[in-house]
This record gives sequence, C-alpha cells and structure tokens, in this order.
Amino acid sequence: GDADINCQLLVLGSGPGGYTAAFRAADLGLDVVMVERYAEIGGVCLNVGCIPSKALLHAGQVIEEAEAFAEHGITFGKPRIDLKKLASYKDGVVGKLTGGLKQLAKQRKVRVVHGTGQFSSANTLTVEGKDGTQVIGFEQAIIAAGSQAVKLPGFPWDDERVMDSTDALMLKDVPKRLLVVGGGIIGLEMACVYDALGAKVTVCELSNELMPGADRDLVRPLEKRIKGRYEAIYTGTKVARAEATRQGIKVSFEGGKAPETDTFDRVLVAVGRSPNGKKINAEAAGVQVDERGFINVDKQQRTNVAHIFAIGDIVGQPMLAHKAAHEGKVAAEVAAGEKSHFDARAIPSVAYTHPEVAWMGITETEAKAQGIEYTKGVFPWAASGRAISVGGDSGLTKLLFDEHGRVMGAGIVGPNAGELIGETVLALEMGADMEDIGLTVHPHPTLSETICFAAEVAHGSVTDIM
Ligand code: FAD
Repeated sequence: GDADINCQLLVLGSGPGGYTAAFRAADLGLDVVMVERYAEIGGVCLNVGCIPSKALLHAGQVIEEAEAFAEHGITFGKPRIDLKKLASYKDGVVGKLTGGLKQLAKQRKVRVVHGTGQFSSANTLTVEGKDGTQVIGFEQAIIAAGSQAVKLPGFPWDDERVMDSTDALMLKDVPKRLLVVGGGIIGLEMACVYDALGAKVTVCELSNELMPGADRDLVRPLEKRIKGRYEAIYTGTKVARAEATRQGIKVSFEGGKAPETDTFDRVLVAVGRSPNGKKINAEAAGVQVDERGFINVDKQQRTNVAHIFAIGDIVGQPMLAHKAAHEGKVAAEVAAGEKSHFDARAIPSVAYTHPEVAWMGITETEAKAQGIEYTKGVFPWAASGRAISVGGDSGLTKLLFDEHGRVMGAGIVGPNAGELIGETVLALEMGADMEDIGLTVHPHPTLSETICFAAEVAHGSVTDIM
C-alpha cells in the first residue's frame, strides 16, 4: 500500500500491556511494530507509576523503620534528606528497567516507532513524531494506549503547587503542609511517601471511607496508623474550589469535618484515571469508544473490529499493570492464531502503603451485598511470632471459602501483604480448599504461615504455634 512501514501486528502504546503483547507476538513469529509517543518505552507503570512510586515508598519505609527502632534501642537521629539524590535513585531504578525493555525489544526485532499515533483507516495508523509523519500499515492491531490522571476542573493547574501523581513523583520539594485530594490507592501511597519525608499530610476523600473497595477490617490498621501521624483525614468531604494565593493553594471544603477553607503549600490531586480512547481517532478504524473513552472488548480482547484488539487501562477496571500484561498476552496469542482467552478468576489489588493492604477474589463486603454464603478464617498477626518481631502485629490475614470449602477471596494487611497475596491467588486459580492450604507445610517463622493458620481457623483445626 502507501504506507511508509508495513507490519503484521501494530501495537499502539508501550506500557505493561503494550510491551507484553509486542514481545509475546514477536516470540510467536509475528512481525511487530510498537508505537510510543514518549522517548522512553514502558508506559505509565515504569516511568510515572508502579515503579517510581515503589522506589520512593521503599525510601519512606527505611526512614520509618529507623524511626520506629528508637523505641527498641537503636537511634539513628533525624534523617537528612537530599531530595535531588533521592530523585536520582528513583530515576536510576526506572532507567534500568526502561533500558532493559529497549534491549528486549531489540532482541525480538520489535521495531519501536516514536511519535503520537492516530488511526487513519482500519489498516493504517498515522504517526506524528520528531522526524515528521509516518504511515504504518498493519494486518492486525492491539490498542494499548492506557490512561491518564483525571485533572479535576476548578483547580489552578497552571500553578506548579497543584500536582497530579506524575508531578508528585518528581519530588520538587517537601511541602510543609500537603493536601492529598483522593483517598484511594495512589493518593494514600503518595501521602505515605511525603509523610515519611517530613510533610504534614491532610487527606480529603469524597466517599465515607478511605480506600473504597477494600474490606474495612483490612483498611483499619492503616487508618489507625495514619490517623496518628497525619495532620487530618477528612472523609465524606469534597474540595469545592481551589485557588492559587501567595501563601499557598487555598481550598474550600464541603461536608465532613473539614474547616470551610484552608491553605496548603502543595496539593496533590489523585481522584482517578481516565482512559485515552478518545485521543487515537479510533473512528477512522471503525473501533467503538464509549462516552468515557473506554473500548469494549470480548474475552479474546477483540474490539468490535475483528482484527483490532484492545488491552489494559483503556478497556476498563481494574486499571492495574498485571491485568494489562495478562490481557496483552491473550491478545498477542489470539492475533498469532492461538485459541487463548481471558479467564483469570481473580486479579489481586495491592496498596503499597505502610502497612500494605492486599486483596483478591470476592471481598467480604461484596459477598454480603450479593447474599453469597461464605466461611471466614481470620488470623490476627498479633499471634504470629514473625509479625511481632518485624513490628507487624497490627496485621491480619483473612480467607473466605465457598460452600465446598474452596477459596473465593482473601485479604491481607501488614508488611509484605502484596507478596503474600500471591499464594492465595494461586490457591483460588487451582481450586484449593481450606484443607489443602492447612495441610501445606509453610516455613516457620514466616508471615506466609498466617495464610495456613487462617485456613485452619476456618477449618476448625487450629494449632497454637507462634
Ligand atoms: P499505560 O501504562 O498507560 O501505557 C500506555 C502508553 O501508550 C503510554 O506510554 C502512552 O504514552 C502511550 N500512548 C497513549 N496514546 C498514544 C498515542 N496516541 N500514540 C502513541 N503512544 C500513545 N498498577 C499496578 O498494578 N501496581 C502499582 O503499584 C501501580 N502503581 C501506580 C502508581 C501510580 C502513581 C500510577 C499513576 C499508576 C499505578 N498503577 C499501578 C497503574 C498502572 O500504571 C497502569 O494500570 C498500567 O500502566 C496500565 O498499562 P497500559 O499498558 O494499559 O497503559
């Protein structure tokens, strides 16, 4: 045709969805072109999401653990923080990964084209980049264009003291007083980082609870800890207005226990993410995009146009990297002629706060609301030797079982909850029941034992090992 570049498979976007799909397709023998508007590949996750936030949360954890140990006989003194160096540590972590990705793309002969792509027909994408316009012809395509932070209207976004998560990760300074608008996972993780670095943090959440979606018993230990540390937590509260003044960002609150107005040195807005579906000229390819910007797909990740697939944040909730990657594999395999489809039974969610909160499968709140019967096994970490010795005795492991005793949901709060939840996802995928988990010998003393103990509690065969 008239295209400058031709390929069998075009992947639009290089995030965890896009690069996983591109690599899998290349491994299956397809000739792949991946298009990315930014200079670095890796998407939100690697560049301004999962990875940089975890690097900073680790720094925060080091500070907090050092602080906490003063009580137990080791004092390090007040941390001196070199923000530039800390930011370059974070950038170094990101750089290693994006550099590695570039290598992996090269090894697989995935051609990466930099520039902003828009569909120009059902078989062409037009890319505007530094080197001008290129038309890419494709036989099949996978849309992995992701999402971006919602910019709440009414905020003075041209003022650098108003931040989204990307700005907050840049660590320009540590404000004396920081307002975090949005008490979901991203807001609470960034609150955690800035609190550890010495900011006085206020969190404002519209709904009546922090981290909506997670069971209350799992959020409580986190809530208790941050209530003691942060300046204020306002739930059921809305920020009605925000204006830039010389003294700071002046916000007006509505509802809840917040004052009418208050002025902060910086404000982080973390109220959700919106899909990029409306910015890729999908109509030219005949791909339907809903009014919010999401693209509907079937179990094989196909859009309404049979040779065009979509994956990741752009196809809907949960907007998580591991979901995007899993969908990417499915789409690539189907594009390569395999009979794959999306049949993951559970997608875990993790807040990497201190303490971490993790859950998967059905939550207890959902089970109750849907009238689904369940047997519950809860093991409080106050009875775990390992948890006590690592300062994690406020933690909790909870397992939910169906009428056959099979795992259908789990929730964990405490240090490393995000690592621990993996075992429960495996148990659910394998159809393990409470006896299977209880009879599996777990190493002692570990936090993983609490999963075994919770299963035994549900089964009524509790042992008393600490
Ligand atoms: P994205 O990662 O959004 O990638 C899409 C890519 O497409 C981008 O690089 C974009 O530049 C490119 N693109 C878009 N439009 C075009 C176009 N027209 N032309 C060319 N290129 C285009 N998830 C987790 O699972 N765990 C976490 O710990 C976690 N932490 C997070 C922390 C923060 C602060 C944020 C913001 C998000 C976090 N997430 C986390 C969510 C996670 O980052 C996303 O779910 C994930 O990146 C989605 O992957 P994706 O491939 O769908 O899209």
